[in-house]
Amino acid sequence: MAVPYQDYYEILGVARNATEKEIKAAYRKLARKWHPDLHTGRQKKEAEEKFKQINEAYEVLSDPEKRAKYDRLGSNWRAGQDFEPPPDMGDGYFYSTGDFEPGLRSGFSDFFEMLFGGIRSAGRSAAAARGPVRGQDVESEIGLTLEEAYRGTTKTLQISGSKVCPECGGTGVRDRRFCARCGGTGTLPDLKTLEVKIPAGVREGSQIRLKGQGGEGLGGGPPGDLYLKVRILPHPVFTVRGDDLEVQAILTPDQAVLGDKVSVPTLDGPVTVTVPPGSRAGTRLRLRGKGLTRKGGGRGDQYVRIVIDVPASISEAEEKLYRQLRALRQ
Ligand SMILES: [Zn+2]
Repeated sequence: MAVPYQDYYEILGVARNATEKEIKAAYRKLARKWHPDLHTGRQKKEAEEKFKQINEAYEVLSDPEKRAKYDRLGSNWRAGQDFEPPPDMGDGYFYSTGDFEPGLRSGFSDFFEMLFGGIRSAGRSAAAARGPVRGQDVESEIGLTLEEAYRGTTKTLQISGSKVCPECGGTGVRDRRFCARCGGTGTLPDLKTLEVKIPAGVREGSQIRLKGQGGEGLGGGPPGDLYLKVRILPHPVFTVRGDDLEVQAILTPDQAVLGDKVSVPTLDGPVTVTVPPGSRAGTRLRLRGKGLTRKGGGRGDQYVRIVIDVPASISEAEEKLYRQLRALRQ
């Protein structure tokens, strides 16, 4: 009985002399691209088919024994060509006539079945055989307003990760076939909701570690950790400069010339600032200890930058006074 030849090297897009590392990298890339759970509708069928092929190719090329046996067929075969096992291939693993036992179907191609005898060898790399494996650490980002970072807060987050497939318990195999639910990977994409306590005083780039909230472990292994990297969102009023903050105080010309008391926002609420007479545009007034929490304790400063602006419209009386001012200075 002839079956279509499978070109495993072509399926993974690697050279016939590819190293184990190259094969693994190619497999990972393709498996991520074609995972059936990442596709919907008509594309899902195509993805399932590709995913199966990729897994089959990897099953053979990642196993030195299987790869050697496959390589012995020679490099002259083309994908889809009628293949019949050469007589010297006989090692009792393949069936030479008739249909295959339905119970032994691995979900792999007839070619694979003929060459390697189905599930007997497939799935050997499954998690169960490896013993307990700790789950992966997961990294993610969390965006906070300046106020949230300064005061601390509780945030609800949705994290996408993966969980152990409940159908096959992470082995990727069920009833001697590749698990249909997870496509043989042993994991399913997962979206989980987390309540995260953000401590007061976190800064741009701070890392928050959530123990046990990373990827699930396999075979009874502990879960990994989740690392959240803090990103501070742009603020409409405050500019962050290291440990210090800066805000603008917009003054009219008379306030700048004569001096005034103005209200300025700080992280602790508004404060009254005395603008000295003769303050020029660009002058910075310092509010000591009103900046961000420093790493070693204490706080930076807040600077108030003077900006002078003219009123958009003035009354007749005001215009008259400005004319008098001009006359006086000439
Ligand atoms: Zn499964």
